[in-house]
Amino acid sequence: MCVSFIREIHTEKPLTHCPCSLEPSVLLIISFSLFSNVSLQCFMNSVLQCLSNTHDLRDYCLRNSHRTDLNNNCRAKAALMEEFAKLTQTLWTSASSEAISPSDFKMQIQKYAPRFVGYNQQDAQEFLRFLLDGLHNEVNRVTVKPRSLMEDFDHLSDDEKGKRMWNKYLESEDSKVVDLFVGQLKSSLTCSECGFCSTVFDPFWDLSLPIAKTSGEVSLMDCLRLFTKEDVLDGNERPTCHRCKTRRKCTKKFTIQKFPKILVLHLKRFSECRVRTSKLSTFVNFPLKELDLREFASDNSVNAVYNLYAVSNHTGTSLGGHYTAYCRNPCTGEWYTYNDSRVSPMSSSQVRSSDAYVLFYESATSSRL
Ligand SMILES: [Zn+2]
Repeated sequence: MCVSFIREIHTEKPLTHCPCSLEPSVLLIISFSLFSNVSLQCFMNSVLQCLSNTHDLRDYCLRNSHRTDLNNNCRAKAALMEEFAKLTQTLWTSASSEAISPSDFKMQIQKYAPRFVGYNQQDAQEFLRFLLDGLHNEVNRVTVKPRSLMEDFDHLSDDEKGKRMWNKYLESEDSKVVDLFVGQLKSSLTCSECGFCSTVFDPFWDLSLPIAKTSGEVSLMDCLRLFTKEDVLDGNERPTCHRCKTRRKCTKKFTIQKFPKILVLHLKRFSECRVRTSKLSTFVNFPLKELDLREFASDNSVNAVYNLYAVSNHTGTSLGGHYTAYCRNPCTGEWYTYNDSRVSPMSSSQVRSSDAYVLFYESATSSRL
């Protein structure tokens, strides 16, 4: 289905302004070609295109900064990051327009996660998680992880507790990939009897949002509201209240404690229902610019505005489908559609569709456009 790379040079629009270090003349748009025997599935294609248009990650690879991180770690085994960086470099800097083959990258994927190779019906979000995790592990600035001590932060304010938990996370997981993609979620559990509230802070790499309606149209904000909606835990689900020292009916609520630079939102279109998976084709209306998430923040005074730069789309059903990607070029701001061997400019008005599956947002404070 979706195979290797072919480079296409788009000359119809001169690139006048490029804030990154690239020479505009060698900026290339790449796609996967049908005409090679090196098969890369379309879910990989879609995810790789979204990542290669992630400005800071792309520049990290182009500047070979990953090598510094690798050297500092004296890491011998870092083949996935190396191949990912090579691929990114080829995508953006090679002046040749011949077809290139990502076989080395694919070989690494095969080595790390054989389950992703050979089947086209894979989940793009799962692959994204796996890939980011693999890349992170290889460029983790922490080489010797500290023994985890159970520390009690419960006497601290929520804000302080969140900060301590985040620092604790960084003591073992700290990389460029974490700098970009990881945020922190706060979950608050409130006892319905005594009102005691306990909080837990967890890092997140993406948010999986339930779709608020099974058909028709719904807004992304509605999905976020459903995700953060207060949930009642009762019956068998009753947690233990630390003050009452017994299981109590509680309410649980999520808020975002720390916003990541890159916010990945996964729309839960696929649901397991008894016998087989089904897919929701609800049109989720999401903003391309100025997605304001302040209402979901633990602290409403923070700045949490995001702009969209990539979408991984899934067309078809849960039984068979195809992945494509819509990406905004980080230098020109123009949108392109990547579909197997085809890459073409598109209007930003076409970016929203009921195929949208994984949304890539960039914090407006780090946006360059
Ligand atoms: Zn209680």
